[in-house]
Amino acid sequence: MDIYSDLLKQHGLKVTIQRVAIMKYLMGTLSHPTADTIFNDLIRCNPSMSLATVYKTLDTLRNEGLILELNTGEDSNRYDGNVRPHSHFRCLRCNSIIDIKLPQSHHEQINKEVSITYNVDVLERKCFFFGYCQDCGGGNSTQSLYNNNFKSH
Ligand SMILES: [Zn+2]
Ligand SMILES: [Zn+2]
Repeated sequence: MDIYSDLLKQHGLKVTIQRVAIMKYLMGTLSHPTADTIFNDLIRCNPSMSLATVYKTLDTLRNEGLILELNTGEDSNRYDGNVRPHSHFRCLRCNSIIDIKLPQSHHEQINKEVSITYNVDVLERKCFFFGYCQDCGGGNSTQSLYNNNFKSH
């Protein structure tokens, strides 16, 4: 018995080859793939997999809280096998998504500020960061990126 079958059973779901394959795939990657990417990668080892099955399985797993569905403003949703609370950074150039972990105190501070300022109860906050990743000139090379943009205008 593998951990994926265990998790499915704990959530009252039937263990199917497709469900196990998709969970295994998502929990083994940090790339936050789209349904298309998952399908294209899995079809090689699972010829019986269809895109419709991938969508249906992702829906089921998301509804059970076994995976996360992210919409970062792209045409396609992204999927994440890491269901622990965390934020995301999306590169505006290559669209890669990086997991961002901020200290719990930071989240509490912002939630408290919003609660007090707007007189509301904050139950959940979805946080996305956008910018340029290291491969695309972000980080230490930010300065040169800005300079290049500046010169070309
Ligand atoms: Zn990038
Ligand atoms: Zn993530």
